[in-house]
Amino acid sequence: MLTKPKGTYDVIESEALKLQKINHLIEIYCTVYNYDFIRTPIFEAKELFHRAVGDETDIVTKETYDFKDRSDRELTLRPEGTAGVVRSFIENKLYGTNLPRKFYYTGTMYRYERPGNGRNREFTQFGVEILGSNDSMTDAEIISMPYNLFQELGFKDLNVKINNLGSKEDRENYKKALKEYLSPHICELCEDCQRRYETNPLRILDCKVDQDTDILKNVPNILNYQSEESTTRFNKVKEYLEFLDVDYEVDSKLVRGLDYYDYTVFEIVLDTEILGGASTIAAGGRYNNLVESLGGPATPCIGFACGLERIMLAMDEIEETSKRPLDCYILYVNEEEKLKALTLAQDLRISGVSVDYDTTGRSLKSQFKEADRNLAQLLIILNSEDLKKGLIQVKDNITKEEIKIDENEIIDYIVCHG
Ligand code: ATP
Ligand code: MG
Repeated sequence: MLTKPKGTYDVIESEALKLQKINHLIEIYCTVYNYDFIRTPIFEAKELFHRAVGDETDIVTKETYDFKDRSDRELTLRPEGTAGVVRSFIENKLYGTNLPRKFYYTGTMYRYERPGNGRNREFTQFGVEILGSNDSMTDAEIISMPYNLFQELGFKDLNVKINNLGSKEDRENYKKALKEYLSPHICELCEDCQRRYETNPLRILDCKVDQDTDILKNVPNILNYQSEESTTRFNKVKEYLEFLDVDYEVDSKLVRGLDYYDYTVFEIVLDTEILGGASTIAAGGRYNNLVESLGGPATPCIGFACGLERIMLAMDEIEETSKRPLDCYILYVNEEEKLKALTLAQDLRISGVSVDYDTTGRSLKSQFKEADRNLAQLLIILNSEDLKKGLIQVKDNITKEEIKIDENEIIDYIVCHG
């Protein structure tokens, strides 16, 4: 038997219902927050991710799916969404239109990781990006939007962690101090961190292995290495978040896994055992240099991405996902009634009523059972005798009341009562 590749999964049954519910809410949120939908390719030039995400990040060094196509082009399955959005922004010269541009996407991402709870090789991210504004108001919007959305989904124990990485220059100053502090302890760090010490020392703060050592507990605080401009900016972000009632906590060790972040970075963590070590459901930050470094004009940007599988897992704790009820089920027996069922269903569906009927030759009795299984609210029970008189029998499947309606008024009746 053929089976799915390791780290992938099928979205079926209750998982499908959960995903639909989340996607529906995402559509509503992105509409009211005025984000435009964007779709970019699932594979891009390998170089894009090396340059955007960073050569020294775990994502690029260990996790990408790289391949050559039949013409020997070096391609990569996207491990995240921002690089593609920024590439598209530059390639389509969207910076020439009115700024800022606000985009949202949902789509599958690919990372060669060890699969486990909330960690897959193919997973789905919802993300938004604001390109072309450096106002702290956008930082507050980008953090509060997923916070509000998660609350609406029913999550209560949300932990918003924010930090300020400052400008490139602030980070250089901090990196110097961090390296000075770490230099007597290098051999006590894990192998990865020993390499990061040279290539990307900030990432040491994020190390899952060394996290609890005294060395990491006592590192210099990045917030003490910020310029006045950066600190003022961060204070504004915090002030706005307070006005928006976002319950946040400053975590000066939060750095995020990707290279392109500066100034504000944040994570939303869900406090639940179900997610084990993978409890971050959304993460993002400001990236004011990325557009320029990929060949576009200097454009300040901010965004976040959120992992839908982790949200789906956590939803099990707050509700039982139930099947969506059907407005109407049509029952019939003979060929004449069947033809009526077919046309009536089409007319009702076009009018926005959800309708179904049997297509497997079931007896009338088991059609009633099918209607119940589909949670049908109304039943249309077709009968040749009635049809001859221009009448159609409708039964309310909840109150069990029955009524005969004039054939010409059936659509209006069902639309009003369905
Ligand atoms: P982690 O520290 O958990 O590995 P990350 O820093 O690699 O996360 P990001 O690149 O910031 O994650 O991605 C944003 C979000 O996408 C994460 O917070 C998470 O919800 C989700 N995500 C990331 N990797 C995976 C994965 N392999 N499987 C499922 N969801 C994922
Ligand atoms: Mg990761």
